[in-house]
Amino acid sequence: MSDKPEKLITDDGLRLDGRHADEIRPMKIEIGVLSRADGSCYLEWGRNKVLVGVFGPREAHPRRSQRADTAVIRYKYNMASFSVEDRARPGPSRRSIEISKVSREAFEPVIMAELFPKTAIDIFVEVLQADAGTRTAAINASSIALADAGIPMKGLVTSCAFGKVDGQIVLDLNKEEDNHGEADFPVAMTQDGEITLLQMDGNLTPDEIRKGFELVKKGCKEILEIQQAVLRKKFETPVEEPEAEV
Ligand code: ADP
Repeated sequence: MSDKPEKLITDDGLRLDGRHADEIRPMKIEIGVLSRADGSCYLEWGRNKVLVGVFGPREAHPRRSQRADTAVIRYKYNMASFSVEDRARPGPSRRSIEISKVSREAFEPVIMAELFPKTAIDIFVEVLQADAGTRTAAINASSIALADAGIPMKGLVTSCAFGKVDGQIVLDLNKEEDNHGEADFPVAMTQDGEITLLQMDGNLTPDEIRKGFELVKKGCKEILEIQQAVLRKKFETPVEEPEAEV
């Protein structure tokens, strides 16, 4: 771990990467990047780079994993060994199993799984480069990949974290802030504002949490606008003018 800088927030209120407390990192989204997947998304958020492939609904295997009344949703979060400064150990870890579980649960309220009994919907996440906030980045990318796959959903899921750095509540922590900050609080929500993921690492007072939630709502609104713009660009077909009668 790098040494803690003297200050993570300068006297004029700026963070070391130049952001204000309520700013998210720049986000770039590409849709439909994997030809073998039913839906896919590549997302960059600050220095995070994640790739998501969605497969299904398809017959669930093994058969005993099928459910007669609904599709099973499976979410697999994986970090490439080259995605972090010191090589990440390949294969599942306690952390990746936990992230996969909470991320799947973040989507269960919106995916209309009951329309596809006996099938599986697989969401595969590969983190190619990590800089704190990979679970939130992956959820934002998964939302797009699910929409790209045409999976019926009640709405998109957006995700962002807030945290505490140098005693201040800030939005979307980068790696340096995550390493040396006092708390990290990832959240995911539906576009109606229903919370589908909520985790906390560190200690925060109720007032700090209230303040953080105001920031997260603002962050998720901005992310939703980016997601919607990407989907609109891909799926909005220009309306053809009817030919004039002669
Ligand atoms: P998130 O990426 O969702 O913020 P964590 O808070 O667990 O999840 O991790 C914060 C950051 O720590 C990651 O984004 C990554 O940069 C780094 N990190 C996580 N796991 C490892 C690991 N096994 N080896 C090195 N760095 C890691």
